[in-house]
Amino acid sequence: MITTDVVIVGAGPCGLFQVFELGLLGLKAEVVDSIRQPGGQCSELYPDKPIYDIPGIPVCTGDELTANLLEQIKPFDAGMHLGEEVAVVRPDNDGFIVETDKGSQFSAKAVVIAAGVGSFQPRPIRADGIEELSDECLQYRVRNPQQFSGKRLAILGGGDSALDWVIELAPIAEHITLIHRRDEYRAVDASVAAMRQLVADGKVTAIENSKATRIHSDNGALTALDVKSKSGDEIRVAADHMLVFFGLAPKLGPIAEWGLDINRKTINVDTERFETSAPGIFAVGDINHYPGKKKLILCGFHEAALAAFAIKHRIEPDKKIHVQYTTTSPVMHQRLGIKEDDQ
Ligand SMILES: Cc1cc2nc3c(=O)[nH]c(=O)nc-3n(C[C@H](O)[C@H](O)[C@H](O)COP(=O)(O)OP(=O)(O)OC[C@H]3O[C@@H](n4cnc5c(N)ncnc54)[C@H](O)[C@@H]3O)c2cc1C
Repeated sequence: MITTDVVIVGAGPCGLFQVFELGLLGLKAEVVDSIRQPGGQCSELYPDKPIYDIPGIPVCTGDELTANLLEQIKPFDAGMHLGEEVAVVRPDNDGFIVETDKGSQFSAKAVVIAAGVGSFQPRPIRADGIEELSDECLQYRVRNPQQFSGKRLAILGGGDSALDWVIELAPIAEHITLIHRRDEYRAVDASVAAMRQLVADGKVTAIENSKATRIHSDNGALTALDVKSKSGDEIRVAADHMLVFFGLAPKLGPIAEWGLDINRKTINVDTERFETSAPGIFAVGDINHYPGKKKLILCGFHEAALAAFAIKHRIEPDKKIHVQYTTTSPVMHQRLGIKEDDQ
């Protein structure tokens, strides 16, 4: 059990900036995200695209904004728990117990939900017989590449993840069949060229403009896939494992079960404290709703600042909280790890 001041659900830009605002007020945070890298939509959906409306930064990419936020929160040494989904938030004395699907447990005085449009989950494949397959034979994330040594693999998808794994697993797999519903790939040119070379070398078979319609298995073990082309031709592909990379889709997921006042897929908050209907549970960024809400990063940053003051007041109700400037406040400098003679 990790004991902390605040658990932040979501490591998107608003969750990361929440660490900073809490840190300035002397509060410690642990951050949990269901995906394996921080940055939320910025790193998952548009890592290389330019953002022009972050105050003071004329232009930066999604990845650059994430890297800058991580640099900015370094002094506060927040625990990062990536690849874990927060499944349970329940009251405990004056605070909360928070549990993830991987079994991590936190005891916190407050919770901030910075879950954006929800938890990113792999888009599932729909095909007859798919539900018969064991988790071992149908994978959406590769955890142990070595298990595919000497195996026949069917890799489905046409984006960067699909092609990256084709290229990485080709040297160890017996054979790979790549199945894509188009003949154009949403991957970097170099990966497409490398995949085409593997096809030319006979290590990979690429079946384009086609999709898997029926899965054949024996006691949970994959034996073959029926693959149908747009023109109606059908072929059977023998395989031991199928790896599916159809992209990620956000889902509100377990948050819907935490008893909060939900507005469609968002959480109602007030605009003074950004607190939800459950005292002690706050929500910032794209996940929250209030009159006039705009789903913009800078709005989430403002919300994180006010939520931090509200949390500080909740945790230390008898203390007066003054606004202090990072420019001049020795306390802020100490929290930021800046030595007075550095200035
Ligand atoms: C293509 C595109 C371009 C955009 N361009 C701009 C722009 O130019 N300017 C701008 O201001 N905004 C832009 N946006 C919007 C901006 O990205 C969002 O406003 C911002 O990402 C919201 O940040 P967030 O931290 O609230 O949530 P998110 O970035 O969505 O991050 C939320 C994180 O929470 C995690 N999570 C959810 N539920 C759980 C759970 N139960 N357990 C653990 N983790 C969980 C998710 O996995 C996710 O990583 C753009 C969006 C898109 C899609």
